[in-house]
Amino acid sequence: MRKPKVAVLGLGIAGSSIAATLATRGYSVVAFEQFVPLHERGSSHGDTRIFRRVPHEGAVYVELAERSYEGWKRWNSTAQAQLFWECGGIDAGPDGSPMVQAAESLCRQYEQPFELLDGREFNRRYSYFRLPDAWRVVYQPASGVVCPDATRAFLHEMARNAGARLVHDARILDIVASSHGVRVRTIYEQVDCDVLIVAAGSWLPRIFPELRIPLFPERRVIAWYPFQCPAGSAFQRSPAFVFDSGGGWYGMPTPDGQIKIGHDKHFNEPIDPEVPVRDPDQRDAELLSDCIKQYFNGVDNVPAAIKSCIYTNTTDRHFLIDRHPDHKNILFFSCCSGHGFKYAPVYGEIAESMLTGNTWSGMDLFQLDRRSTAITRFSD
Ligand SMILES: Cc1cc2nc3c(=O)[nH]c(=O)nc-3n(C[C@H](O)[C@H](O)[C@H](O)COP(=O)(O)OP(=O)(O)OC[C@H]3O[C@@H](n4cnc5c(N)ncnc54)[C@H](O)[C@@H]3O)c2cc1C
Repeated sequence: MRKPKVAVLGLGIAGSSIAATLATRGYSVVAFEQFVPLHERGSSHGDTRIFRRVPHEGAVYVELAERSYEGWKRWNSTAQAQLFWECGGIDAGPDGSPMVQAAESLCRQYEQPFELLDGREFNRRYSYFRLPDAWRVVYQPASGVVCPDATRAFLHEMARNAGARLVHDARILDIVASSHGVRVRTIYEQVDCDVLIVAAGSWLPRIFPELRIPLFPERRVIAWYPFQCPAGSAFQRSPAFVFDSGGGWYGMPTPDGQIKIGHDKHFNEPIDPEVPVRDPDQRDAELLSDCIKQYFNGVDNVPAAIKSCIYTNTTDRHFLIDRHPDHKNILFFSCCSGHGFKYAPVYGEIAESMLTGNTWSGMDLFQLDRRSTAITRFSD
């Protein structure tokens, strides 16, 4: 049977994974991105993201991470650059932290290797950390760091090698759906396809204003701090970290020898993705440097670099992956809410299951009209 012709809107991590996977599986794929390759206007750029092998967000994510873990290793074996470093990772926080409890109980439930430490023992092993002695620390050896820019470049090459047409600097301006297919238009061309997959990140609500899609783009800031790995704890063995304190810190050592820090809420500043995000200022640097001052030893608390970017949140912080309510040949694919990069290897497979009508367990949690409880995340 002929496979449908698929158009993909957006080449962030979701669109890039979907375009590459579907093209390698024999679909005819054309993908449009409004900006230049590897641009920094969405949420998928940069040097590093955390991969947590057993994510504390809930069971559905553990299953996505299970398959993604194999996918990252597979991609690592074929990519020119290293895309995934299995350097371990921790979820840490005060006794009673729901996030740390969830990490521990999901590791037990899924029989994944982990160690439960207190802050004092963890600091003894990694002397540049200064966690409170009584904190609980769930250490997972199979967690690590993935590399966004290198991954997108790898996926674009994979997609092109499999025959996909990737068109950059070409915003989709108009979408017309009928029972026969979907017609999309950029300023350069008009393309007819059987299915359109909209992986537009924070632009999704603007593309379908009539649906009032509940996605809320906010400004975030991340900073890099110079750091000399002490002997015996080189980058490859320095764990990524999330701390359930002060609203939620996260970070990781980066391949160029720095510590990168972000705050899950930052100042919760709503933004319009059409307007480039405001550059960081002193107040942003002070907020992020607080994490260095509180939880690290011997790390300079003046950032060497600092950048703004975008988080796109749903209210329950689950993803949004569904069909358009009136046009079944339009799919929405938003791996949003600040934790979606790590599952890149499975997005193409999920998209294919939606095209073929096969079910992928747990996806009802990502539907537009779901009634769900919020993910387990950092305490406020
Ligand atoms: C600071 C920060 C830290 C994070 N940390 C982690 C982490 O540690 N671990 C983790 O797993 N995840 C993390 N995430 C989350 C993850 O990076 C994002 O969830 C993910 O990158 C979102 O990808 P996306 O493809 O859905 O959206 P985007 O990256 O925003 O991509 C959407 C694309 O669509 C394009 N587009 C929009 N409209 C149009 C149009 N009309 N025509 C053509 N193109 C269009 C946009 O230009 C954009 O390129 C983090 C995110 C941020 C911002």
